[in-house]
Amino acid sequence: MGALRDRFWERPLAELTQPEWEALCDGCGRCCLHKLEDEDTGELAETNVACRLLDCKTARCRDYANRKAYVPDCLRLTRSLVGKLPWLPETCAYRRREENRELPRWHYLLTGSREDVHREGAGIAGRVISETDAGPLEHHIVEWDG
Ligand code: SF4
Repeated sequence: MGALRDRFWERPLAELTQPEWEALCDGCGRCCLHKLEDEDTGELAETNVACRLLDCKTARCRDYANRKAYVPDCLRLTRSLVGKLPWLPETCAYRRREENRELPRWHYLLTGSREDVHREGAGIAGRVISETDAGPLEHHIVEWDG
């Protein structure tokens, strides 16, 4: 990872360098879960089913650098996409900074521990099942924020 400026997360997203952008992710893992969209209403439902590359115990991608080779439709979160993804969790650091809000108090950039996101219940480590084992997504609808 390249050099990160002091308290870079307080800067507007547009000013972040690529290493700073990458470092902003809190590692919650929520964006690596399948969502279901109602064909008629467009309403989204969340599931507890994870991408096959996600380590379900740690909520970390098992091959982040090469993930596109295994999962071609893996979404690459960019500045222009942040405001267009209604399913990004309310806690997501990118969403919060896009909305000019502070990071959650448990964010690892503030606490120094990458485990805090899971300890505080915002992360999905140990609470999801891989798509390779899950079966029909309809059986796995959950409300993470609720
Ligand atoms: S939802 Fe946001 S903070 Fe959580 S893993 Fe995805 S990009 Fe990172």
